[in-house]
Amino acid sequence: MRKKIVAGNWKMNLDFQQGISLFSEIVNMAKDEVLGQQQVVVCSPFIHLHGIAQLAKGVSRVAIGAQNIYFEEKGAYTGEISAVQVKSAGAEYVILGHSERRAYFNESDDMLSKKVDAALKHGLIPVFCIGETREEREADRYFDVIGGQLEQGVFHLSNEAFSNVVLAYEPVWAIGTGLTASPEQAQEVHAFIRDKAAEQYNQDTADQLTILYGGSCNPQNAPELFAQPDIDGGLIGGASLKSRDFIDIAKVFN
Ligand code: PEP
Repeated sequence: MRKKIVAGNWKMNLDFQQGISLFSEIVNMAKDEVLGQQQVVVCSPFIHLHGIAQLAKGVSRVAIGAQNIYFEEKGAYTGEISAVQVKSAGAEYVILGHSERRAYFNESDDMLSKKVDAALKHGLIPVFCIGETREEREADRYFDVIGGQLEQGVFHLSNEAFSNVVLAYEPVWAIGTGLTASPEQAQEVHAFIRDKAAEQYNQDTADQLTILYGGSCNPQNAPELFAQPDIDGGLIGGASLKSRDFIDIAKVFN
C-alpha cells in the first residue's frame, strides 16, 4: 500500500509564537485522533522549523517540512537556505515547485530539478508541485503542461531516487481561490501522472508513488477527493492554519 500523506503549507503566515501554539495543538490532536498509517506533515516557514521539530520529537505520526531550499550546499548566497540547513533543523520534507514560487520568484523547471537533486542528496523528501493555470485548463493544454513539468522537474531521476519523491497536483486556479477541482477532474490528472510515471520508470514504481491533491481542500471536500483511487492525500494551504480543520482532513483516512 502506498503512503497516505496530509501535508500543511503554512506559507508566509504566523509569527514564531503563533506557529508554536498552532503546532502544539496539531501534535496533541494528532496523537489522540489520527489513527491509521497516514503521515501528517507540517511545512512551516524557516523560523519555526527548529522549535516545532522539538515538539514533534517522538511523535512519528507528525513530520516537519520546509517550503523551499536553494540548490547549493553553502556559500555566498545571501538570504538563501540549503537542504543541509533545513535538515539540521529537523525537516524531513520540502515543498518544491509550488506555483507561488514559480510565478512570483521565477523558479524555472531547470532550477527546480537542481533543487530536487539537492533535497534528495541530503535526505529530504521533495513534495514536488505541478499543475496548470486556468488559461491552460480552458485551452485543454493541461496534460501537456503537467507532462512537461514532470519531464523537466523529476524525470531525470533514477528509479531509486524517484521512489523517494512525493508529487502534488495543484491546479493553480484552485489554490487559495475556494474553487476545488472536482473529484473527477482531480482523479483524471492523478491517473495521468501515475501512467506517466509507469511509462518513465515501471508499473511498480508508479503504484508506490504518493500523489497529493492541493487546491482549496477542506474537511468538507476532502472525503470525496481522497476516495479517488489515485489520490493519496492532500497538500493543504488555508485549512492547515486551523488545527481542527487540518486534523479533520488527516482523519479522512481513519
Ligand atoms: C497550497 O498553497 O498548496 C494550497 C493548496 O493552498 P489552499 O489549500 O489554500 O488552496
